[in-house]
Amino acid sequence: MRAIVLDDGVQLRADYPDPVTRSGEVLVRVLRAGICETDLQLMRGYMGFRGVLGHEFVGVAQTGPFAGRRVVGEINCACGHCDLCRRGLPTHCTYRTVLGILQHDGAFADVIAVPQENLHVVPDEMPTDVAVFTEPVAAAFQIPAQMAIDRADRVVVLGDGRLGNLCAQVLASLSDHVLVVGKHPEKLALVDALGIDTARLADVAPSRSADIVVDCTGSDTGLPTALTLVRPRGTIVLKTTVAGEQTLAWAPFVIDEVTLIGSRCGPFDKALEALAAGLVSVAPLISERFDLSDGVQALELARSKPVLKVLLDVSE
Ligand SMILES: [Zn+2]
Ligand SMILES: [Zn+2]
Repeated sequence: MRAIVLDDGVQLRADYPDPVTRSGEVLVRVLRAGICETDLQLMRGYMGFRGVLGHEFVGVAQTGPFAGRRVVGEINCACGHCDLCRRGLPTHCTYRTVLGILQHDGAFADVIAVPQENLHVVPDEMPTDVAVFTEPVAAAFQIPAQMAIDRADRVVVLGDGRLGNLCAQVLASLSDHVLVVGKHPEKLALVDALGIDTARLADVAPSRSADIVVDCTGSDTGLPTALTLVRPRGTIVLKTTVAGEQTLAWAPFVIDEVTLIGSRCGPFDKALEALAAGLVSVAPLISERFDLSDGVQALELARSKPVLKVLLDVSE
């Protein structure tokens, strides 16, 4: 099968072996996949991953109870037996693999193996181009799953890219005071069009008045910037994963008693509901699309230009 494989570099393989299913896994024929900031970080060495990239996808289940139906898949493959699994924290399973990120081949391929229990059926009326956003929208819904958000909370989302846009939309359904801070006028315009306030980073004073600051910058500058915006006793939510090490003066966290919350994968059911109800708008985020066979060029474009979501058409 075809696959976009990360090894020393990233390359298209036309003869990559079909995935072999482990216990509880089913084969999914991939229809569409999305390129994410994490894929670009993996290419820079994050997690030391080697294998088929890709963790945002829609496909058709080939086997199992959902055979023949369109599905999306949660990306953490848990053992089901360890301490963390038994505590109901499968996304933190000690022995997990993660689709396209950790010891499990991903979705930039004709076929992917996914645990049946990770699959969610896509509603018939939902376009594949919408459903492919389930994983990042779920990640946005992880924020309200981790902390209470009040209508009166002043929320700043740092970053006007894919994840920043989606987090802002989810948070704007919960708070009346969401501000997206970014660097790209054309990306901020998309947020403006949704009725959410925006500002250029260069125009934002270090006011230290936000109750909640969400870092979606994908950059190691995000956390220091968040510290200049959050109020004492406020909360910084870190959605950014950066390859390599970051240095930071930690004393402000102590002095201002700032809470730092790491936030990763979220609830797929909530994301599918919101997408089905049209509560989150994703179509304007699609900036480019490529055939899977041109996946290397697609990744190159996503890496080099400030594009929003690049999709890969894998099959019909
Ligand atoms: Zn992702
Ligand atoms: Zn486990």
